[in-house]
Amino acid sequence: MSNKNFYGCINCGSILSEDEITNLGKCNNCESNNLFSLNENSYKVLNNNEKILKIKVDEVGNIAAGKLVGELLIRYFNKYLNDNAVGLAANQLGINAKVFICLNKHSISTENKFNIFANPTIEEAYDEFITLEGCLSIPNKQFKVKRYGYVETKDIINGNVVTGGDTNDKKWIAACVQHEIDHLNGILISDKEVKPYITNTKNNYKPNDRVTIVNTITKEKKIIKFKKLNNYSNDWKIE
Ligand SMILES: [Zn+2]
Ligand SMILES: [Zn+2]
Repeated sequence: MSNKNFYGCINCGSILSEDEITNLGKCNNCESNNLFSLNENSYKVLNNNEKILKIKVDEVGNIAAGKLVGELLIRYFNKYLNDNAVGLAANQLGINAKVFICLNKHSISTENKFNIFANPTIEEAYDEFITLEGCLSIPNKQFKVKRYGYVETKDIINGNVVTGGDTNDKKWIAACVQHEIDHLNGILISDKEVKPYITNTKNNYKPNDRVTIVNTITKEKKIIKFKKLNNYSNDWKIE
């Protein structure tokens, strides 16, 4: 076998050799120029300042194209990512396609190690909770975000699927599905960080009450009006 690279077409799902791509870089079947390498070794996970992580990516044209992208994501995941990862969205590798994969060991449908979702939308979600999430595209950071314990998605490969449950593991997979769909819509966990909980354990503060807050990292202290608390990050707590 030659070492020529092969490419996939996001629009029609064709597999093309380098020779088959016209000199304009278009698919010789449908003329789309949204092509991607099928060689998982040619990718790396992009970080959050790349533009493709901040846009709504393109839908794939058919199921074959969705599976072609999904199978590439699975090859990449199995080769380069460890057990801390739960899912991967195509645009995290720089591929402009509305496809993601998610581990499915805790989801309600359990056939393979991964589910591939192509052109997914969220149809329904309920049982809201707050969770702490990391992202491969934002290394070494975690953000508090709002998720739902159950999520019903619709996509061209699986149809309508409910993911989630009432255990932490099942909620975690539901959160993964929501996290990856956010990626495909250009949303990162840093964009939807939940502001600090206002815990009135001892006091019921009124909006104009003055409170002392302390930064748990730098130990800096400030006196602010209670109503301004939401302008501060999770690092700040009421003293
Ligand atoms: Zn094509
Ligand atoms: Zn992520």
